[in-house]
Amino acid sequence: MKNECYIVRDLLPSYIDQLCSDESKQFIEQHMAHCESCSHMLYQMKEELNVVEQRDLPLRMEQKKPFEKVSRFLKAQLDFTKFLKVSFGLSLLITLILLVFAFTNLAEWQENQQEQQRVEQEQQDIMDKTFAAILAQGMPDEAALQSVFEQYQEQLEHIALFASEDTENTPTWQQGPMTTFPVDYKKALIVVGENGNMTEAIVPNDYDIGTMVMANEEWVVQFEYKESYLPTVENAHQIKHYFPTVWQLFSMPTVFTIITLFIFTIWLYQKRIMKPMETTIG
Ligand SMILES: [Zn+2]
Repeated sequence: MKNECYIVRDLLPSYIDQLCSDESKQFIEQHMAHCESCSHMLYQMKEELNVVEQRDLPLRMEQKKPFEKVSRFLKAQLDFTKFLKVSFGLSLLITLILLVFAFTNLAEWQENQQEQQRVEQEQQDIMDKTFAAILAQGMPDEAALQSVFEQYQEQLEHIALFASEDTENTPTWQQGPMTTFPVDYKKALIVVGENGNMTEAIVPNDYDIGTMVMANEEWVVQFEYKESYLPTVENAHQIKHYFPTVWQLFSMPTVFTIITLFIFTIWLYQKRIMKPMETTIG
């Protein structure tokens, strides 16, 4: 064995592990090319290393298992955090769209409510003014009734006055106008229309929203809307009874706001418990 062989053999472990410098590597390989003894030594060392590795492999796999479980668990947790983040984003987007939609409709909704209140207030005003006209005169007179009619010519076909005792099923007193009991015009004391007192027979409007009645203990006032004004009255009726309330208008955005906050809370919580784990994984 030459001196060179000692140096080469000292370097072999580093050479096998590919840890030696390029110069050393070159030196070893040049030596191996002509030294059979060192070549054989290298071959043996590699063989031995393979045997050791194969023997230890199952054990090392077994040792890796719990770590794999933990890392799989952590990965699932990270995936869940990502899922929460995406869900939160989507839910927030849907909430915002629903809110914009609700607020866009709110303006129209408010207009409709105002229109409905205006029609209802108008009904009350017509009745109040008619009763005030009757009571002011002591005895009802045509001119007083006609003056009320003229204020509402655009809306009304006619106003009729009845004595309570002449009508059937008359409630003794009502707080406001109602549509429930049409009265036979033949029994009316006075009926005023476009040209003052009306004497010809009047066919009651069979459209019951178009006929309004209000009574006190002594008198019953009934008026009929003009055909041209009926769509306005019908519209107000629809708004009052069938339109969504503010709550209904905002129910979907409210529900989605709650869902979004819920997801956000879980996400924050998940992020908090994941924080120390993330630093552990590196
Ligand atoms: Zn040698």
